[in-house]
Amino acid sequence: MGGMGFDEAAAAVIQAGRAAAARGWVPATSGNFSVRLDGGRMLVTRSGRDKGRLVPADLAEVAIDGPAPAGTSAETPLHQALYRDDPAIGAIFHVHSPASMLISHLRAGDGVLALAGWELQKAFAGITTHDVTVTVPVFPNDQDTVALAGRVSAHLATPRPGGQVAAPGYLLAGHGIYAWGATPADAERHLDAFDALFSLSLELRRIAG
Ligand SMILES: [Zn+2]
Repeated sequence: MGGMGFDEAAAAVIQAGRAAAARGWVPATSGNFSVRLDGGRMLVTRSGRDKGRLVPADLAEVAIDGPAPAGTSAETPLHQALYRDDPAIGAIFHVHSPASMLISHLRAGDGVLALAGWELQKAFAGITTHDVTVTVPVFPNDQDTVALAGRVSAHLATPRPGGQVAAPGYLLAGHGIYAWGATPADAERHLDAFDALFSLSLELRRIAG
């Protein structure tokens, strides 16, 4: 799949940042958002910007295959690796939402969060039933994001066991969620579904003990 032009991509990133900020998912300039551009490039948020008040100058064009330039988010290599590995990915949204931070802490030891029996699983592209186990890998957090991107790539290239379907996203322990989709609208819907499913799973755990 090809990418978008700059103006369309910038509008999508700015909108995604604003929506995430309104929900309290990107506290203290955290989170980062990217959209695939034409020509093997991507548009990604620069580091330290308030994601609720992005303007085009807060975004950087980066080659998917090149090194991450100075001034871009420290997590840029995580975006580059996903676009490189999967040509169908058109947008990647990363947030530090409370539910994603909490559940990634809880499941850090398991290395995976399994979602099953929820109707909302059907919000993920390609999933048509509640009757399947959707897995979300949980990676240990790491400030060396190039090394972390390598571990994520290796994991995502490994087929899931029978009966399991990989969700369009992964958790970083104590950190947050990466979600992606073919389009910015898909990535936004996936992020929304993840947050609802994480919140429900946390609440179910609290009730069930
Ligand atoms: Zn982050």
